[in-house]
Amino acid sequence: MPLSANVAAPPLRALRSAARERLSQAGIQNAAQEADWLLCHASGLSAAALLAHQDSPLDEAAQKRLELELHRRENGEPIQYILGSAPFRDLELEVGPGVLVPRPETELLVDLALSLLPDDGFVFMDWGTGSGCIAASILLERPRAFGFLAERNPKALSCAWRNLRRLGLLGRALLIHSRTPGDLPVGAECDLVVSNPPYIPTEAVGGLMRDVRDFEPRMALDGGADGMDCYRALFGAAPLWLKPGGLLLLEMGDAHQAERMKGHSSKFDFLRSVLDFSAIPRCMAWRYRG
Ligand code: GLN
Repeated sequence: MPLSANVAAPPLRALRSAARERLSQAGIQNAAQEADWLLCHASGLSAAALLAHQDSPLDEAAQKRLELELHRRENGEPIQYILGSAPFRDLELEVGPGVLVPRPETELLVDLALSLLPDDGFVFMDWGTGSGCIAASILLERPRAFGFLAERNPKALSCAWRNLRRLGLLGRALLIHSRTPGDLPVGAECDLVVSNPPYIPTEAVGGLMRDVRDFEPRMALDGGADGMDCYRALFGAAPLWLKPGGLLLLEMGDAHQAERMKGHSSKFDFLRSVLDFSAIPRCMAWRYRG
């Protein structure tokens, strides 16, 4: 137990309310919940133990860890980087600096992929895999699928590798370093190309929330002048990877991008889009004519 017998040290109850206060002063919306997450993470206590031992003080090492973690969060570092993990669908995935934190909107992209794909074996490409959240989810839901996971950032690629290893999925995945969709030596063997590429217009990156702008990898956010560089590159490269009739599924930045990309290529038929929680067309699907 990371608890201390030192009766002079502040009890968990006091640490908890001080942590809440500090986080809320720092402008963090979910301060009470985040304070508990950090207390549990720094102490190793479960959420239940945290409640059960309100009158006990923490030992010195745990107090020091808590102080460091609170300081990082007050500075705007994403809570997921401090905790070292993020939830995605029913998974808890490793994340850290250099890796885009998986977003709930991206879960919609996985749902769309699963709704359009057969139950039996298929091959897919996940370009810009980041933590591996999309690919890991598809591989777990479809035990006979095989995935190529491509990523620019070596830090993210190794994080994806660890996530897939932990989930026992490396036997059905090939992880590849790729700077741009055009540089992959993959033949026309895929049934699906799925991607959540960087799509924020360069000028808009500076206006993102501080946690995102200052801490998440710019490489995973900045999609060029209009945010659509990767979409164009993916439409160019997907015909090299897809079998005729294969699917291209993309996460979109906003309605304007969705409208612009809808009829972008005569090689693809537009199938459907899915609205997110703010009614933005967030995911789009096309079929490759071949
Ligand atoms: N959805 C992320 C955000 O809103 C952006 C991720 C991306 O560019 N693909 O910050």
